[in-house]
Amino acid sequence: MAAERAPDQLDVVVIGSGPGGYVCAIRCAQLGLKTAIVERYPTHGGTCLNVGCIPSKALLESSERYHEAAHALADHGVSVGDVAFDLGAMMKRKDAIVGQLTKGVAHLLEKNKVLSVTGHGRIRDARTVVVDEGDGVERSLRADAIVIATGSKPTPLRGVPVDGVRVVDSTGALAFDEVPEHLVLVGAGVIGLELGSVWARLGAKVTVLEYLPRILPGIDAEIGKHAKRILNKQVGLDFVLGARVEGADIDDDGVTVRYIDKRDAEQTVRADRVLVAIGRRPYTEGLGCEDAGVALDERGRVVVDDDFQTSLPGVFAIGDVIRGPMLAHKAEDEGIALAELLAGHAGHVNYAAIPSIVYTHPEVAAVGKTEEELKEAGVPYKKGRFKFGANGRALALGDNDGVVKILAHAETDEILGCHIIGARAGDLIAEIAVAMEFSASAEDIARSCHAHPTLAEIIREAALDVDGRAIHS
Ligand code: FAD
Ligand code: NAD
Repeated sequence: MAAERAPDQLDVVVIGSGPGGYVCAIRCAQLGLKTAIVERYPTHGGTCLNVGCIPSKALLESSERYHEAAHALADHGVSVGDVAFDLGAMMKRKDAIVGQLTKGVAHLLEKNKVLSVTGHGRIRDARTVVVDEGDGVERSLRADAIVIATGSKPTPLRGVPVDGVRVVDSTGALAFDEVPEHLVLVGAGVIGLELGSVWARLGAKVTVLEYLPRILPGIDAEIGKHAKRILNKQVGLDFVLGARVEGADIDDDGVTVRYIDKRDAEQTVRADRVLVAIGRRPYTEGLGCEDAGVALDERGRVVVDDDFQTSLPGVFAIGDVIRGPMLAHKAEDEGIALAELLAGHAGHVNYAAIPSIVYTHPEVAAVGKTEEELKEAGVPYKKGRFKFGANGRALALGDNDGVVKILAHAETDEILGCHIIGARAGDLIAEIAVAMEFSASAEDIARSCHAHPTLAEIIREAALDVDGRAIHS
């Protein structure tokens, strides 16, 4: 006989209200599950809305407008006189966008009748989450399923402690009160290049110290090289590759960063601010995983199976806290898939077709396998390339530095990957992500009509080039 349910018994408790957690909670509620969400901060939206995707894109956009007005409009015959910016106004605009979106999430949760609880959640057992609401007040939430969606935090670097003033992580670099004279970035990954672009456009000298011999690890090597050249030439980012950062000494006037260069020589660089952006690590502090029996792997990630089930039956995990790319849309898709599984439907994420975008100017976008990955796996492939410089719309925009590369299986012609650097690459990649969902061939794209004059024609030409029949090159 089934046990009787207490009236306050929930179907699902989600811990964490980032894009993984809040989307999962809303979808659960839509599917008729009685759902609660627990968030330790007073606003919803997690890293993405509060200190990640959204504030960084707001500053990227504002600094890009300034940079364009100061440096690019003259080419279009537009003169604007002396161009200036107001950093305070930029920050206020960014904060207003964050406020609007985080309030929007609260509204959506309420509209879907998700019970929202503020406080730090801890898993007591497979059916109970204890929420520390502050001032010694604790509340127990009982549910049939618990979803861990606690996200990630910046990885600290030994010898370079973040003091929040001279040495900052991404959160600090989204809120500088003045433009640094010299900003040193540790790490030429996504955060380093995006936030480095913001401050370089606003006038900072920016030096990027990167441990590896290349920037943007994980991105197709050819596109990575192209990005390095453009970001150096157009934005002024100064890259020091093969630099192993050993420590940073803060004094009254600034910071001295010590590193070992690629010839094994000790070097120093002086900066007034340092941004440490060497990756993020899963966040499970105070979550009670060990005591409850939720297994973590060697990198601190919650271990899950294909259905997001952890080692403790009834406890699930999604988003940055589990394996896979640390991306908001990946967390969202996992949240939806899990909600559907919990409601007894089919739920699935196609990890082979998750796009990733670096919002520099020009943007870098990718989906599927890189050339290096295909070579390593011994997969026979064909390659089609087309340059932005041969596209009419790119010339009209004045944004004609870039390339699209499509990789297709040598025998079946199925698209295996696409890599872009160029204007609006982040929007262009969506076509290939959808095509890959349908297992499309390069010929399918080549035979689809693309409006003229658009940047999307570059995608089509690259698809034609897979068979050596591009028209405009
Ligand atoms: P998070 O968004 O980290 O949310 C987890 C939430 O759980 C947090 O609100 C946290 O307070 C809460 N929490 C943790 N532990 C507990 C607990 N015990 N009790 C209660 N609450 C708890 N991704 C993109 O796709 N595109 C981008 O453009 C992009 N830009 C980024 C820019 C920056 C500067 C940064 C830092 C990240 C960026 N990301 C971007 C990555 C993106 O933010 C993350 O992949 C995404 O937020 C992960 O979502 P999540 O739901 O797994 O976790
Ligand atoms: P990252 O993994 O993208 O890059 C970190 C870089 O730091 C790497 O190039 C690495 O080689 C380098 N590095 C590591 N240790 C170093 C050391 N000691 N000295 C010098 N260099 C060192 O990490 P990130 O830029 O911190 O971003 C974290 C995560 O946030 C990313 O994984 C990404 O998924 C997510 N994010 C996504 C976006 C986006 O989608 N547009 C934007 C920002 C952040």
